[in-house]
This record gives sequence, C-alpha cells and structure tokens, in this order.
Amino acid sequence: MNLKRKANLICKRLINNYGDKIVERRFEPIDELVLTILSQNTNDVNMFRAYENLKKTYPTWEEVLQVSEEDLGVAIKSSGFFRVKAKRIKATLSEVIKRVGKLDLSHLEEMSVKEATEWLTSLHGVGPKTAAIVLLFCFGKATLPVDTHVWRLSKRLGLIPKETTREKTQILLEETIPKNCIYSMNYNMVKHGREICKAIKPLCEVCFLQTSCDFFQKTTIS
Ligand code: SF4
Repeated sequence: MNLKRKANLICKRLINNYGDKIVERRFEPIDELVLTILSQNTNDVNMFRAYENLKKTYPTWEEVLQVSEEDLGVAIKSSGFFRVKAKRIKATLSEVIKRVGKLDLSHLEEMSVKEATEWLTSLHGVGPKTAAIVLLFCFGKATLPVDTHVWRLSKRLGLIPKETTREKTQILLEETIPKNCIYSMNYNMVKHGREICKAIKPLCEVCFLQTSCDFFQKTTIS
C-alpha cells in the first residue's frame, strides 16, 4: 500500500474510534505563541499554571514588554527553565512589535503555510513545531506540529523511516496526510500515543491500528 493510502486509512480509523475534530481557536495567535514557548520542556499542567499566573500578574503583552526578565521569570516560574523562557518571550514580543508595529499576528491569515512558517520561524526562539501549533490551532492552516507522540507513532506505523528527524517528520507527514484530515490526525495521534501506543509498553493487543502498523507486523512475525 502506498503511503498516502496508508495515511488516509489510519486517519479514518482514528476518526472512527476517537471522532472527527474541527479547528477551534483556543487563544489569540499572540497568546498561543507565548503559550507554546511556555510549553517547552514541561507538561500541560505546569504550562497552564505559568500562563494563568502570567496573565494575572501582567494582563497585557505590552506590560510584559515593560517588565524585567527577572520579574517575568518569577511570574512563569512553574513552567521550568523560566529564565530562558522569560528572555525568549521578551525577545519574541519585541521582534513582533518591530516588524508589525503592534502585538498582533493576524497578517499571517493571508499567507501560505510556507510563507507563514518562514515568518514565524525567523523570530528568535520559534521553531517549526511552535510555528505549526500557531498556524494550525489559530488559523486552521494545514500544517502538523510533531510532538513526541506524533513522532513515535509515525515511526511505529511506518509513515516515516525510523531515523527521521522531527523537522523532517513534519515535512513528510504534511506531504502524505490528506489536508482535510491534518487537524483530526494531529489530535487523534496525540490521544492514541498517550493512551495506547505508549512509549515504553505499547498496548498493541488492544490497538485498532494493528493491521496498518509496521512495528506490530514485525514483532508478531518474528
Ligand atoms: S499496534 Fe502497537 S505499535 Fe502499532 S500503533 Fe498500535 S500500539 Fe502502537
């Protein structure tokens, strides 16, 4: 089976089991951008705790730009690596102001995925995953953030070669997965990775993707 057909089949099976998803904007793009910086190397609980404390302490991004890195670090301490993140948030917001004239990313709406990704990743501290999160969740653009679950699952299923880097994984998956399925695929792969295809002991015996999975086929034959 070619890879596009396989990806389509996996997408349908995930939807049948977990449901179809439609893009629902959680935050304004600039908020989502800061949130993804806070999410680096931490879990969702600590990320949201830091974000809520940040918004409570400094309700506007303009205020965040005025405070020192030390004070900002105190507000986001629960997210871990707070000194690095404080520096990164201030640098990113300053760069947006410099380029756009205001703290607003709505101009990305009109750009292609490629242009918008290039614009975002040219900001200090913004990598392809962060850019993909902002573009997918805030603008519904067909780009796929590769977190640890999407990466692991893609390798086990055989959607990408085993040695593929995260950055290359994003490129390959975006070429393979049907565009109208990308949002559901991202959401459902993360769910499947958390609940069934776990990192240490995948629950293959109860997995509905067995027949599409290279890892399962190899381990049951050998
Ligand atoms: S069969 Fe096993 S390795 Fe394959 S996707 Fe399911 S849980 Fe993961």
